[in-house]
Amino acid sequence: MVECTFCKIISGKIQGDILYEDDKVVAFSDINPQAPVHVLIVPKKHIPTILDVKERDMDIVSHIYSIVNRIAEDKGLSSKGFRVVLNCKDDGGQAVYHLHFHLLGGRRMNWPAG
Ligand code: AMP
Ligand code: ZN
Repeated sequence: MVECTFCKIISGKIQGDILYEDDKVVAFSDINPQAPVHVLIVPKKHIPTILDVKERDMDIVSHIYSIVNRIAEDKGLSSKGFRVVLNCKDDGGQAVYHLHFHLLGGRRMNWPAG
């Protein structure tokens, strides 16, 4: 099976601008940023979409939210706010089939999202 792009970043086969890493997750800068701060928070476990998240993965998901908060604080986003986005499959705009949360901030976000 061909390894996905984010698994390659996690294993170090391709380089990412890694901002945070622990045993469960890695966070790195998006290569095509849509805001002054655009960080991807990704589980090390290869989970293709949110539809594949099982009850046993909930510790990973809740941990991801704590890392989102930590990075938002570190990047100075907590006073003005930020957006967290998860895209699922084609209609949701998912391009990389390895679960990831976008942390976007540093500008005013539009609503509804495009
Ligand atoms: P999504 O459309 O939700 O699947 O988002 C995938 C995101 O991954 C996009 O914002 C891309 O810019 C980003 N991306 C793709 N390849 C890389 C890479 N090698 N390093 C960092 N970000 C990437
Ligand atoms: Zn993967």
